[in-house]
Amino acid sequence: MGKKVLVLGEIRDGQLRNVSFEAIAAGKKIAGDGETVGVLIGESVTKLAEELIHYGADRVITVEDAQLAQYTSDGYSQAFMAVLDQEKPDGVIFGHTALGKDLSPKIAAKIDGGLVSDVTSIEEKDGEVIFTRPIHSGKAFEKLKVKKGIVFATIRPNNIAPLQKDIQRSGEVLSIAVVITNLRTIIQEVVRKAATGVDLSEAKVVIAGGRGMKSAEGFELLDGLAKVLGGAVGASRGACDADFCDYSLQIGQTGKVVTPDLYIAVGISGAIQHLAGMSNSKVIVAINKDPEANIFKIADYGIVGDLFEVLPLLTEEFESLRAVH
Ligand code: FAD
Repeated sequence: MGKKVLVLGEIRDGQLRNVSFEAIAAGKKIAGDGETVGVLIGESVTKLAEELIHYGADRVITVEDAQLAQYTSDGYSQAFMAVLDQEKPDGVIFGHTALGKDLSPKIAAKIDGGLVSDVTSIEEKDGEVIFTRPIHSGKAFEKLKVKKGIVFATIRPNNIAPLQKDIQRSGEVLSIAVVITNLRTIIQEVVRKAATGVDLSEAKVVIAGGRGMKSAEGFELLDGLAKVLGGAVGASRGACDADFCDYSLQIGQTGKVVTPDLYIAVGISGAIQHLAGMSNSKVIVAINKDPEANIFKIADYGIVGDLFEVLPLLTEEFESLRAVH
């Protein structure tokens, strides 16, 4: 029998994040021939509802309020609980993002639901939904099912393919009014670092540098290759600790988790804490002068050599390939 699944669409800078479309695809796997309902929360979000429908949502519910312009745990949970009370779904999907990681346990705990976090794949077997998630810093995977209550899951970005966008799809968009009260946090201003290039968490190509980059100037060499490949620059903690770059670039157990199509590790030894953040990348290329470096154990392609020689050659080669195609 089909199920009803709610999916939160995540908005950044007025746009739906890619993970929202992946979450819709995940929701549809659970819903079967049931219904996948998109949920949008914010100040002025109804205009984005159509796009969720184009990516597979059957209908969309929006909650709009000036107090929801910025994410707060209190505001979003009040809005989401109101939708939950109205819809009484069988399942709820969030992205495994800062927002999803904050909101999902709060809602699941409130209604005594079972939460599976950081899901990388979903399958249906004999009418049961089985979630797969990495454990032990990505060294193994476990399969889980939720036995009773509403099923909550957060899905890791870049793992579950979104459905093909279909602009012919249509569906109902319903706005519900929720009285948002007693916010304990009010965000008055968001001051962002000047962001350049592609968002690291959602990038299809990541070029990450480690302590082997030697200096902040050396680290800048990565920008050239990232630019040619349309990718984002990331880093090991070694590089961040050495002040070659900002901690916002850190990938790993205590940094960001990325799963790009291509991950190029440059001057990174491959410590287990780093692997925890990137080992699920589809293709891994490592450049390191030490043939025994741990990173080569998980790399699909390895280049043993001095990165200061290899990196400019690679960048040049990709540049000329791009010029041809
Ligand atoms: P190194 O281990 O120093 O490796 C540098 C590499 O560069 C070496 O393999 C060397 O052969 C190579 N190299 C040097 N010069 C060149 C050259 N000219 N050409 C080519 N190769 C060269 N680390 C993370 O990355 N992310 C995390 O989230 C994280 N969390 C942690 C949490 C905890 C609790 C702890 C204890 C540690 C954590 N770490 C994390 C740190 C981790 O253990 C490593 O110390 C760190 O990843 C090492 O960074 P690195 O590979 O850049 O440096």
